[in-house]
Formats: sequence, C-alpha cells, structure tokens
Amino acid sequence: MALIRLPGLIDAHVHLREPGYEHKEDYHSGTAAALAGGVTVMLDMPNTQPPTATPALFYEKVALARAKALCDIGIFVGATTTALDAYLPVAGAACGLKIYVSDTFGSLRIEELSLLHRFFRGWAEQGASLGYRSAANPHGIGPIAVHAEELMLPVCLALSHLYAVPLHVVHVTRRSEIELIRRAKEQGYPVTCEVTPHHLFLTTEDAARLGSLGDMRPRLAAPDDVAAMWEHLAAFDIFATDHAPHTLAEKGIGVSAAVANPPPGVPGVETMLPLLVTAVHAGRLTVDDIIERCVTGPQRVYGIPPQPDTFIEVDVDARYPLRNAAMHTKVGWTPFADQAVFGRVERVVLRGQTAFADGKIVAAPATGRVLFQEINQL
Ligand SMILES: [Zn+2]
Repeated sequence: MALIRLPGLIDAHVHLREPGYEHKEDYHSGTAAALAGGVTVMLDMPNTQPPTATPALFYEKVALARAKALCDIGIFVGATTTALDAYLPVAGAACGLKIYVSDTFGSLRIEELSLLHRFFRGWAEQGASLGYRSAANPHGIGPIAVHAEELMLPVCLALSHLYAVPLHVVHVTRRSEIELIRRAKEQGYPVTCEVTPHHLFLTTEDAARLGSLGDMRPRLAAPDDVAAMWEHLAAFDIFATDHAPHTLAEKGIGVSAAVANPPPGVPGVETMLPLLVTAVHAGRLTVDDIIERCVTGPQRVYGIPPQPDTFIEVDVDARYPLRNAAMHTKVGWTPFADQAVFGRVERVVLRGQTAFADGKIVAAPATGRVLFQEINQL
C-alpha cells in the first residue's frame, strides 16, 4: 500500500442543484460526494431554479450552502436574458460570472451579440475598479467562465481580448477548440481552460453503450477529439468534473414508460481522483499533473486561497471497481460503474478536522465555508 498525501482537491465546475432541484442533489449530499472524492472546494454553477442572477438569489444560495455544506463552496453568478446586469453588485462575492452560449441544461443560453457584448463590458468595468482576483489581489473579481462550443468560442475569445477580461473556457471537447485556445494563449490572450474526466476517458464509442447515462453537454467526442485533449494536456489549466446529477428515472432507467428527452449531465465529483490515479498507473499522467490541474490551476484561475491544515490521504495502489451503490451523490450512479480503478481516498482532513475516513463521512454538519464572502459588496 502506497499512501500519499495531497492537498484537498478543488472541483471548479459542479452543479449542486440547490435551490430548485433538490431531488437530484443538495449542498449536503453534493459535498458528501466531494469529500469521498478527496475534494475540499467546489465551485457551484448558477443554472439552478431560479438561476443565480441577482444579489438576493446569490445570498439565498450562500445561506443554503453555509447551513449544509461539508466542504468549502464558491458560488457563480449567471448571466440571464431577463435580470440583465443584476449580479454586478455581488461580482466580488461570487467566484466568477458564468455565461452559457451553447446548448445546456436549463434556460440560461445567451445567443445575441448585443447581450454578450453588454455582459463582457459590464464585467470589465467591475474589473477596472476592483481588479481581478489573485493571491496579490484577494478582493478582486473572478473570471468570466463560458460554455462556448464551436463558433461561439472565437466570439468569446475576441470579447475577452477586446475587454482584457480573464476568460475561462469550461469543458473543452474538440480538437479545433483546444488548438484555438492554445493559439490564443500563445498570443497572450487572457484565457484559461478545463477538461472533464468524462471527456478524457470516454468517447462517442462509449456513448452508444451508455445511452442516456453517457449524455451530457458538450456530448462525448470522437476518438480523435479525445486524443487531442491528451496531446494538448499542457494547455489545460484545470481538471473539473461538471458534476451534473440527474436521477436514474429522469434518465429513463428503471421506469416503465419511455422518457422523451432525458436531461443531459452526469455526476462525477467522487470518481475524478480514482480515474486520474488510474491514468497515472497507465503512464498517461503524473501525480504532479493532478496537483497542478486539481489544486494550483483552479487556485490561480479563480484566486482561491489555500485551505490551512487541509489534506487528503490516498492509497494510490488500492484497486477496486467503481460501484453505483458506493456513490454518495443523491442520484447514486456513475457513468464509470463497474470500471476497475486505482486510488482510494482513505482520509480527508479539513482545517485540522477529519472530515472523511474509512469510507465514511465524519464531518460535522455545516463545516464548509462559502468563499469570498469577506469581499466588498458594492
Ligand atoms: Zn456544467
């Protein structure tokens, strides 16, 4: 047994579903899944019901997270077509602004240039007065994070460049997209990007086998696109799961009547680390690659401070099959079910207190904190 100690991981892209979809996940179940996966910080997306688009809705989420979370949470605000600019007063208390410009779960998709232009310009004005958050400027604002596929990617790259706004491209999946982002980085654009484990380890060939359990946005990509993620690994700042739980019934599994449009999205926070450790065993990654993209990369991109006295212990040689029944997420399944993996989280210590040990959650309720709340409210 080889036990290694790592910093607590950061999952910079999750959907904890509260408020509005608590039957899929909530701040307690989602953070329990995080601890089981060695994750001690999660950044939570705004496509809840209602979407996190106003200061009141943002602080409602802060209160929910504070009451229930077992690990630390950063909360995104989201751009909508209705509450335009309403989030700007809490820009400094959010981990960033999320804009959906491509097909996704929920109703937050933005397709008009006039709106996109407005969102980038408004965020840039906040950035000009507060600066962007970093270790040197903890009171700044975070980046704009975009779900931007295909031709929406160069649109967002151009707006970010024109307004000098840091842009983080979530879940990249195509060869053309990562090649373009790499080119933009080489040209000095303020852009960073992430890739999910499911887009690193599954392809269109798995999509047929998995059916609705392999359906997410962006969809699983062709083998050549997946190969491009690995070829351009150095261009990725973050591994993040896009943990997006839906129930098996919603996915049309175990129900008698066919489900017309199963919602896209798959859970992932508690399977990321074993999948990555398995890739280390296969010689495709190093442990340093994991630390860089699950800890230091997200800290840099979002200006997340290190958590004191926080670490995880991982038995990197433990080999076992991932099982739906072992999942802590409320929905109780994983697209990687029955796959043999290496790497078991043995213990998680958060701020000096054991939060997870021997397969069990031991964190006291509400031990998680919400990030960036000491920040100025404009
Ligand atoms: Zn997402």
